[in-house]
Amino acid sequence: MQSKKRDIYFFGGGKAEGNGKMRELLGGKGAGLHEMTRIGAPVPPGFTITTDVCAYFYAHDRRYPKGMEKYLMDSLARMEKLLGRRFGDYDAPLLVSVRSGARESMPGMMDTVLNLGLNDRTVQGLIERSQNVRFAYDTYRRFVQMYADVVLGLRPRDKTESDPLETILERKKKSRGVRLDTELDAGDLKELVGEFKAEVRNRSGKDFPEDPFDQLWGAIGAVFGSWNNDRAIAYRQLYQIPHSWGTAVNVQAMVFGNLGEKCATGVAFTRNPATGEKQFYGEFLVNAQGEDVVAGIRTPRPIAELESVMPRPYMELKRVCKVLESHYQEMQDIEFTIEDNKLWMLQTRAGKRTGFAAVRIAIDMVEEKIISKNEALLRIEADHLNQLLRPIFDSRDKEQVAKEGRILARGLPAGPGAATGRVVFHAEDAVAWKKNGERVLLCRIETSPDDIRGMEAAEGILTARGGMTSHAALVARQMGKVCVAGCEALNIDYAARTMEVGETMLKEGDWLSLDGSTGEVIQGEIRTLPSEVLQVLLGNAGEVKSSRVYRQFSKLMKWADETRKLGVRTNTDQPDQAVVAKAFGAEGIGLCRTEHMFFQGDRIQAVREMILADDEAGRRRALAKLLPMQKQDFREILEIMGGLPVTIRTLDPPLHEFLPAREEEIVELAHVMNMPVQKLRDKVKVLQEFNPMLGHRGCRLGISYPEITEMQVRAIFEAACELRREGKNPFPEVMIPLVGSREELSAQKKIVDQTAQATMRSYGVKVRYLVGTMIELPRACFVADEIAQDAMFFSFGTNDLTQTCLGLSRDDAGKFLPSYVMEGLLPQDPFVSIDQDGVGALMRIAVSKGRKAHKGLEIGICGEHGGDPKSVRFCHRIGLNYVSCSPYRVPIAKLAAAQAALGKDS
Ligand code: PEP
Ligand code: MG
Repeated sequence: MQSKKRDIYFFGGGKAEGNGKMRELLGGKGAGLHEMTRIGAPVPPGFTITTDVCAYFYAHDRRYPKGMEKYLMDSLARMEKLLGRRFGDYDAPLLVSVRSGARESMPGMMDTVLNLGLNDRTVQGLIERSQNVRFAYDTYRRFVQMYADVVLGLRPRDKTESDPLETILERKKKSRGVRLDTELDAGDLKELVGEFKAEVRNRSGKDFPEDPFDQLWGAIGAVFGSWNNDRAIAYRQLYQIPHSWGTAVNVQAMVFGNLGEKCATGVAFTRNPATGEKQFYGEFLVNAQGEDVVAGIRTPRPIAELESVMPRPYMELKRVCKVLESHYQEMQDIEFTIEDNKLWMLQTRAGKRTGFAAVRIAIDMVEEKIISKNEALLRIEADHLNQLLRPIFDSRDKEQVAKEGRILARGLPAGPGAATGRVVFHAEDAVAWKKNGERVLLCRIETSPDDIRGMEAAEGILTARGGMTSHAALVARQMGKVCVAGCEALNIDYAARTMEVGETMLKEGDWLSLDGSTGEVIQGEIRTLPSEVLQVLLGNAGEVKSSRVYRQFSKLMKWADETRKLGVRTNTDQPDQAVVAKAFGAEGIGLCRTEHMFFQGDRIQAVREMILADDEAGRRRALAKLLPMQKQDFREILEIMGGLPVTIRTLDPPLHEFLPAREEEIVELAHVMNMPVQKLRDKVKVLQEFNPMLGHRGCRLGISYPEITEMQVRAIFEAACELRREGKNPFPEVMIPLVGSREELSAQKKIVDQTAQATMRSYGVKVRYLVGTMIELPRACFVADEIAQDAMFFSFGTNDLTQTCLGLSRDDAGKFLPSYVMEGLLPQDPFVSIDQDGVGALMRIAVSKGRKAHKGLEIGICGEHGGDPKSVRFCHRIGLNYVSCSPYRVPIAKLAAAQAALGKDS
């Protein structure tokens, strides 16, 4: 490697001035070309102009550094020498491609010029070499067309205009009475070159450049310029690629896959990118250019068939791919061209893969002794595990629906997986239809706790409003339901039971499908495949018992468990969810939201009685009805979790959420409760709040109505004492929500302790238990040292902490947050991934103050962020004891925790 940075790095003939580690300077494509050349792969020679030159170009009014021209001329001369051809030569012309290549791949966003160096004289040399006049003129007209577009900007002036050179091509085909480009003969193509150039003159007032050097400088400038085209800028914003990076430019000798039957072009993967199988995988086309494979004009053939068509280059390709994979110790995605039976490598990079493939490749590579276990853990994107756990759509079916134009809209991919079912708009319909054996999708403008049974009954949930931590999204994830939230294109009419999605009108009962991993809303029914992992874990595996996916999944989890330091619990309030979470290896329950239990069966009636009671005595009467039901819930959950901690939170949401809002419902309820309608109306009105999220909720409820806390604690301890009597070892942790001061916590703690002690005394048993608090208000972080004196544990409620720290309503932010992220005002949705600078700073304060006052204080997190890999790694870094997330995210959190322990920090 050169010690001093240069403007241009040459590669060719087995030597390269750059290498694979120089991505920053040479871009991904350039670094790959240099590295491949170094290790002896057959790469057409060329040179890379660095990203530093790109920065210079923009800083100096599109000029180049002094001395660069000399390097460029030297590099061209070296290419000429290696190939025995000359740039601009009439007899044996060297033709080049000029391609972009940034540090991160930005597929298709920037520009490329191929076949550069052709003019009316050098085309004769191409005819001579190819012995194919038609080929030569076809190449020439493609070059003029591409150059005119990319470099000379000969594009349609507005949306109504068609492409000027395409128009000429179409006219030519029409005049010849043919349909396809391939039906034009050499004479037609030659004429086209002339007509294209005339159009260039006509439109730009300048001649098409004939001098290959003018062409080359023009193309280099255009490719650098394309770093700042609209597409590229938008892509960088989307993927958070810094605008300052710039692109490199690769100038490389052209090789032709379309010179006849001994030529081909294709792409290959060293392993199957869909399944991960160790199998040479790819596609090729005989007598074609790379673009033809991508554009899908002709159907490519499976790579294995290349063996019989061109055995020698096939064997060479297989060999080179093997070398590349073991060199990079990673699955490679390569592009190649075969010209006259000779193989050329045009690109290599780490191949993109599905979650299934990511896991299989990483594990296979450990077993093949290519990488270590730690490397395998680091390589798999934690979120990728989702794909192994969810029902999925068959990828071929997805391709088909896209082709048929059945993808109607996109929302937020809030609950990953695949769901297909019939549209219903009301929770009670979802329940009723399910009872009749129908699969349904519950489509709502937004959901509320009232819809919980309908959500449970549905295969998937679709909402028009709400963000990633909206009610629908968090409940869906917790239930493991597919969910597409905040799909603004929906126009739902509950009364008419219809839903407009863009131009399509759907009615109740119509079939619809949701891809919760992409946010796509798809018309009609699509087949789903169940997750094998889950079938094995829950013990009803049948023929999938020997599932490879399951074996690999459990191996990966074992490695993660051996490595991680952070505990992983789950958020759940239902016994069946607890079973799933435990099967995934959850080490306890970090959050049981008791209010969800209030909506089951006919309990809501007793809850409403409690809320509407005129005095404490009335409330106590209603609470007495609820007690046995809550007790039964807690019993089941505590029993399922064995001796693991079960964190149960006292009532949190504002009470009006349990009351009806619509007039007809109020009238109906008044009737059921045998009370005057006006009285009920008044009660509902009194309970309404301007800002309920900051209103009468959290511990404030338990402080106003201590009897509620008392009933819940009694239910918990009666359940625990019963289990204790049966020789079991339940471990409840009672958690007080929305605490902002030590006084609030101690007031509630007193009730908890007194009730727990009294209950245990009456049962004559002892149950180990803890009383702690959620930390979800900024004030709680600042006074964490005081709160810690009464708390036996902290658990960060980062949903509310984000809401209160950023002053950003979690239920309304979905309207504008996506555009904030899109425009780079926020790096990511703070309800998805912890805002480390703001919310994270508060968390650090709370951890440090809390532990200073209470040594060894146990601290966890139970906000939705507990299942976000980046946030999990942050929690490891600030020293939390555990994260708690929805059951289906437990494996993801475990992997992220292992990655954090191995030092991964982003
Ligand atoms: C939180 O605020 O992060 C939390 C877990 O509580 P909830 O989402 O129920 O408000
Ligand atoms: Mg909260």
